[in-house]
Amino acid sequence: MAELPRCRRTSWAEADAWADRIAAQVRSKEHLPETIVGLTRGGWVPSRLLADRLGVKRLVSIRLQHWGVTAQPSGKAELTEGLSGPVRGQSVLVVDDITDTGESLALATQAVRDAGAARVESAACLHIGHSKFVPDYVGEEIPRDAWVWIVFPWNYWEDVRHLVGQAAADGADVPTVRQRLLERAKLDLPEADVRASHPGSGPA
Ligand code: AMP
Repeated sequence: MAELPRCRRTSWAEADAWADRIAAQVRSKEHLPETIVGLTRGGWVPSRLLADRLGVKRLVSIRLQHWGVTAQPSGKAELTEGLSGPVRGQSVLVVDDITDTGESLALATQAVRDAGAARVESAACLHIGHSKFVPDYVGEEIPRDAWVWIVFPWNYWEDVRHLVGQAAADGADVPTVRQRLLERAKLDLPEADVRASHPGSGPA
């Protein structure tokens, strides 16, 4: 069986708290962004939460691909869809859920600069200490030696499907998979969620 990554399941309440912290940091600088650029897909929900808190009406998207499936990086980060709208002359905040290698946010901020933005800042809900890119605003820091795969509430089922699939690759049943996820991934999932994602369960 493939090794399972150590995971931390996070909640909507934590996501609210990260957004509150980032919004307070942005406000303390006394210049609000005119446009928020959200990295798809991880940065979309955080972008919307920040747009609400900061009163920003304009949300623009940019698509990068890096980590193929849960906890498996797919080589270098790649910009696969450019900005969905113009940012020339604007003050822009570029937002993602987490900076791990930091490659995605580094590429995205460069793309926004190249598109002629007047001011470019960046924010991430979570920032891992080893990231080569350091965002201007961070909701929570994770020390470099405490790497963990964050199961965000907006990526819950995708992560659970993948992790359950890995833990069940040898045909293990639902209770065994649940136990493996608890012991090896430190992920305590409801049995119903493991069952719903188990390859042996029929169509819902
Ligand atoms: P990166 O380019 O390595 O900074 O990360 C790119 C994207 O992959 C992030 O925006 C997340 O959506 C996802 N990702 C990377 N590392 C993690 C992690 N440790 N936990 C959850 N998602 C991650």
